[in-house]
Amino acid sequence: MAETKRDYYEVLGVDKNADEATLKKAYRVLAKKYHPDANPGDKEAEAKFKEASEAYAVLSDPDKRAKYDQFGHAAFEAGGGGTGGFDFTNMDFSDIFGDFGDIFGSFFGGGRRYSSGGGNGPMKGANIRTSVRLTFMEAVFGCKKEIELNVKEECKSCKGSGAKAGTSPETCSTCGGKGQVVRSRNSAFGLMRSVEVCPDCRGTGKIIRDKCPDCRGTGYMSIKKRYSVDFPAGIDNGQAVSLAELGDPGTNGGPRGDVRVEAIVDRHPVFQRDGFDIYSIVPISYAVAALGGSVLVDTVDGKVIYDVKAGTQTDMRVRLKGKGVPSWRNKNQRGDHYITLVVETPEKLSSEAKELLKKFDQLTGDSLHAAEKVSGGETKEKPGKKKKLF
Ligand SMILES: [Zn+2]
Ligand SMILES: [Zn+2]
Repeated sequence: MAETKRDYYEVLGVDKNADEATLKKAYRVLAKKYHPDANPGDKEAEAKFKEASEAYAVLSDPDKRAKYDQFGHAAFEAGGGGTGGFDFTNMDFSDIFGDFGDIFGSFFGGGRRYSSGGGNGPMKGANIRTSVRLTFMEAVFGCKKEIELNVKEECKSCKGSGAKAGTSPETCSTCGGKGQVVRSRNSAFGLMRSVEVCPDCRGTGKIIRDKCPDCRGTGYMSIKKRYSVDFPAGIDNGQAVSLAELGDPGTNGGPRGDVRVEAIVDRHPVFQRDGFDIYSIVPISYAVAALGGSVLVDTVDGKVIYDVKAGTQTDMRVRLKGKGVPSWRNKNQRGDHYITLVVETPEKLSSEAKELLKKFDQLTGDSLHAAEKVSGGETKEKPGKKKKLF
């Protein structure tokens, strides 16, 4: 019997026109409420969590959302079918779950689940977050950076058990090694039962009587490690590169967490960046603006010659196609570079240049100088008092 799936918008409790921020907010509330780690052993909560995650995964992706709006659930029914057939692989929830803690990342990590249900099953290790400063150009063309991190390694003395040499951890008697306990209490609604992390072993299922002196019973030591990080061409400020499974070790056979390295990109004195496009201002002389001519323009590829058209007005914007930032999605694609041509008024002129400009002014015919000439008066400069006569 086919189960009827709820409408994704209904699942998240948002309307059809909800924007990205609204979707995110709605999903975060549900994810927090129903996350399996907050509701160990609660199958209904887990189902609700999955339902909300699936709805969010679809609606937060513009392509998938468009398909869903057009075809409904039928858009994603190829293969699998039924509940739980939704493919979560290749989905990046890290920006949503970033401040929820690392447990969320592992829930979706590569489609494998390590943390659901709590207890002492395999758990993915903690992610390590760090950041690296890049120059504007390093971000545009990509670069390699060495980073040094403190990463947990298994303690050699106790081989990760945390117990002093010659002893071994005992099974926790409170939870019988399961890592979780069932609590019952009376309430107005009857006997309430809840599954909680065991308070004595904190979910490990083991008790260490004699702690290993080298790691103080943690089973780990902090070791400085160097990693080489490849930042792809086109990476932008605030974006991160992930080094999969190079973070802290997992527990009970779980994989290591990831290392996430955020790029902090410096400003450039000339170029400004917006997505994959670059913007800059190029000053041109009054003569070049009037007569046209070649100017050298700085781009991220070096200087290029640009031919200014005669009669160019100040603040004219020109596009240098394909001179922008390479796309990290597709190496063969680049943004554009937009230059704004700004006509510069000369401030210091030689007397010869002044004479020529006056002559020019007379020739073009509608200035105060021209008027004075017509009336036979001596031409004298009156800065700031140029008036047009009609
Ligand atoms: Zn140790
Ligand atoms: Zn216990």
